[in-house]
Amino acid sequence: MQVLSVASEVFPLIKTGGLADVTGALPGALGGLGVAVRTMLPGYPSVMARLPKRPKKIADYSDLFGGKARLLAAELDGLDLLILDAPHLFDRPGGAYGDPGGGDWPDNWKRFAAFSRAAADVALGAIPGWLPDIVHAHDWQAAMTLAYLRYDERPAPPSVMTVHNLAFQGQFAASIFGELGLPSAAMALDGVEYFGGVGFLKAGLQAASAITTVSPTYAREIRSPSFGMGLDGLIGLRANSLHGILNGIDTGQWNPETDPHLAARYTAKTLKARAANRQALEQRFSLDADGSPLLCVVSRLTWQKGMDILVSQLDRMVGLGVRIAVLGSGDQALEGAFLAAAARHRGRVVTVIGYDEGLSHLLQGGTDAILIPSRFEPCGLTQLYGLRYGCVPVVARTGGLADTVIDANHAAVSAGVATGIQFEPDSGEALVEAIERLTRLFIDRDIWSGMQKRGMRADISWEASAKEYVSLFRSLAVQQRTGKA
Ligand code: ADP
Repeated sequence: MQVLSVASEVFPLIKTGGLADVTGALPGALGGLGVAVRTMLPGYPSVMARLPKRPKKIADYSDLFGGKARLLAAELDGLDLLILDAPHLFDRPGGAYGDPGGGDWPDNWKRFAAFSRAAADVALGAIPGWLPDIVHAHDWQAAMTLAYLRYDERPAPPSVMTVHNLAFQGQFAASIFGELGLPSAAMALDGVEYFGGVGFLKAGLQAASAITTVSPTYAREIRSPSFGMGLDGLIGLRANSLHGILNGIDTGQWNPETDPHLAARYTAKTLKARAANRQALEQRFSLDADGSPLLCVVSRLTWQKGMDILVSQLDRMVGLGVRIAVLGSGDQALEGAFLAAAARHRGRVVTVIGYDEGLSHLLQGGTDAILIPSRFEPCGLTQLYGLRYGCVPVVARTGGLADTVIDANHAAVSAGVATGIQFEPDSGEALVEAIERLTRLFIDRDIWSGMQKRGMRADISWEASAKEYVSLFRSLAVQQRTGKA
């Protein structure tokens, strides 16, 4: 079975969040199950820099949304890639979606409509001798692929739209519609029209043969107005085609036994070696070395992640005797508030603003717990890395966080099954109570190391999830063949 995966970020070539981790790791897991994945990715500078001098050209555009473009094929990092080299859209400084100052590019609609147009062309046969059996689009940046397929007269393969975060929808003014190259009938309630404008994700959800999101709980949550972000009505209508499939993690990239970013490597059997990683952090950040619980945060500093709640409770948490290391970037006001907290609590709180892959590994390998107070969390990966690294996850009970962490309540502790701590989302009180609970559990070394070891042994690899994707792909392919849509 051949799958065309369409994504705006893929680890390790370009990453702004969990989406890249998933699109980078899933092809390997599917490959082991007899599904070959070709991943289509925009030709950002960081991607183009990795290509060989003479990359293999597969298709040409004399004019793709206002400029020349080429489709290139390459094998990088074990991934079979199709790269859209469109300098007028992607050869820019900054990140995947914005300028170096962090503002979104004003023509993002055009960048990702063009990307999706080219992906649809591939799905319809632009590469001689290759047609995918399934088109798998990730998030709003790839969603228009499915709209282009839907409004094309040629037969198209069945498709899956995966929602990694419903908060990002790619919503634009109605005035862009004329430039998308879609028939006028597409500007309709059951097409790309969305609250008077054009909705890219909405269009993909409408057109997809099946919809997936990244945890069973989030798949339920997004049918309600409070999590549906305006799309709950449409998602409710498509509920029979909606599946919640948990993300796994790349257990090669995230392995405490071999991780080059750690000061000391370890397994569940040699947990004591973790102490060297904690010491490395204490020295690097001049933290008090007093044996108190050391927590970490590795996160976008945003409202979704509950970072405003966390920062407002930091003084109380420090009062409970814990230390906290924060790595993240995002809202400037939150960045400033975390820096101010570090200045107030020298030795107890450290804030590192920025993106640092290596430090994120060392934090998982050296701190006692990772704190994830999200208001909503489609799946969340950092709690999974925490489990794998013996860094106990302390999480808000929502989305994938609820699905992957077993709360250390009385019953779970006495049954010996707890792997972390859960608390009610969106509440400073609940967060502080969870930290109080943590300090009590931490004192009992048997309970604490039991949680660490169980987490490390939990199966959070891609194997089980990849099987669910394969059975979905196969059922769609069968429906297509038998004409039962
Ligand atoms: P989201 O995709 O919503 O940001 P996830 O938990 O799904 O959240 O994925 C976040 C990914 O980004 C994880 O791999 C995490 O380790 C990484 N990450 C987040 N912030 C930073 C940072 N400041 N430095 C390094 N890695 C980070």
